[in-house]
Amino acid sequence: MLAKNKKKLKGELEKLQKLGIKNIIDGKLLDSSSKKTFQNHTPVDGKFICDVPEGSIKDIDKAAKCAKKAFNTWKNIDHKSRKEILYNIADKIESYAEEIAVLESYDTGQPIRFTKKAAIRGAYNFRYFADKTIDAANGLSTPDTHHVNFTMKQPIGPVGVITPWNAPFMLSTWKIAPALAAGCTVVHKPAELSPVTANYLSKAAHEAGLPDGVWNTVHGYGETVGKALTEHDDIKAIAFVGETTTGSHIMRQGASTLKRVHFELGGKNPVIVFDDADLDRALDAVIFMKYSLNGERCTSSSRLILHEKIYDSFLKKLKARVNKIKVGNPLDPNTEIGPLIHSSHQEKVLSYANLAKEEGANILAGGDKPKGKLSKGCYVNPTLVDGVTPKMRLGQEEVFGPFLSVMKFKTEAQALKIANSVRYGLTAYIWTNDTSRAHRIARDVEAGMVWINSQNVRHLPTPFGGVKYSGIGRDGGEYSFDFYMETKNICVAYGTHSIPKLGK
Ligand code: NAD
Repeated sequence: MLAKNKKKLKGELEKLQKLGIKNIIDGKLLDSSSKKTFQNHTPVDGKFICDVPEGSIKDIDKAAKCAKKAFNTWKNIDHKSRKEILYNIADKIESYAEEIAVLESYDTGQPIRFTKKAAIRGAYNFRYFADKTIDAANGLSTPDTHHVNFTMKQPIGPVGVITPWNAPFMLSTWKIAPALAAGCTVVHKPAELSPVTANYLSKAAHEAGLPDGVWNTVHGYGETVGKALTEHDDIKAIAFVGETTTGSHIMRQGASTLKRVHFELGGKNPVIVFDDADLDRALDAVIFMKYSLNGERCTSSSRLILHEKIYDSFLKKLKARVNKIKVGNPLDPNTEIGPLIHSSHQEKVLSYANLAKEEGANILAGGDKPKGKLSKGCYVNPTLVDGVTPKMRLGQEEVFGPFLSVMKFKTEAQALKIANSVRYGLTAYIWTNDTSRAHRIARDVEAGMVWINSQNVRHLPTPFGGVKYSGIGRDGGEYSFDFYMETKNICVAYGTHSIPKLGK
């Protein structure tokens, strides 16, 4: 399988290097207006992948104007055609599943066992929202004595979508599918560290019959192109996934044009394991939720809060399993952890291992780079640290890598206090067989999403999003339409009410 994946990758890279990747504005493949490019390298071994256009304010302006023009057509297209096009996009995405899987792995370092599902999940996102296009405009009827009021929902306008590097393909579909279903047009700014699959996505959409200008892609750096997108007057809303500090920048940048924002930001999520839980299932979930997707996962359970009665025995089993996690080439189907996105991120994650020593925590596994043939890539061994307290930076800061911090608790109140001691509030995971306790903690824990006796299992109709510094707004089902649409109230009189008579 590794050989087959490498062969597939070789073919795709040849095409990519010959053509490069381009901005896609009004359906046309374009260089950046300045003709400037930057190089994209793989975290696997640092080799060159392709040149990427370094977009500018001018490119954003052009893309936003095209999106504005296309909005007039797209918002009025009949629902059946819109639905059909979104279905076609899903089919096209699936037809590129193999290309997307190998390129996403090579570009991001994410193991192919996860990226091979990216196209399937991406296609599902399109089909799910395609089915909602007809009802998206539905509102409420609120009759009064002399009037009937009703609401309808209308697309907000052209929107900007800014995505991060950790799961670029899936996250882009997650944001863009509901925007298109709502009738919005899109300018997408992919992460500069993982730009490749955004072009396959846009290509699939155009081949599926999406009208030109409805979906535009502009590559480049966040501080220039991303900033320009958030400041553009024709762009009515920004859907952003990324770091908390970038979210605050965007809020400032969008202030003068009163941008509506939807933020999915960082996390430092707790998983609380009580002594009465099904400990075997809890162990599997703890490992999966921290070490899958290289630990570069906003919903990962990065703080394990363990009951004192099971602390030693659980930790012993955890350590044995963490030491057996397979680190390797992301194209190898057996690999469980691939290289992190970039050497600077590798250094950042490793710096937390040094911090663990400084802060007096104990490194039980990892904390270093693998030796031998993986030493050229941005790899970090799966790391397990115990003896962490909420006062330590290790107990507070998002590491965003395969790095798990373990803490001990005695009482339910203590567990909750530790869980709520961080500025983030994205997800929380609770493992207990005491139903009342599970409900109490689910109610009181500061998080946008709580899973009880489960890892994160995404169900698209449910609301996805965080509280505190983890985000603003919710994605999924109808919640996505709340963001991409405006609610208009229409009041019709029965002709029976009195009208005040002035000047009579
Ligand atoms: P990042 O904030 O550095 O970058 C994200 C995107 O924002 C990139 O496309 C970047 O170019 C752009 N950007 C940077 N500065 C900008 C600016 N001033 N104006 C406009 N755009 C700008 O994030 P990252 O390092 O790519 O991703 C990792 C972060 O994303 C982590 O904190 C992770 O928790 C978070 N994340 C959150 C979720 C969620 O659903 N809550 C999901 C995935 C990732």
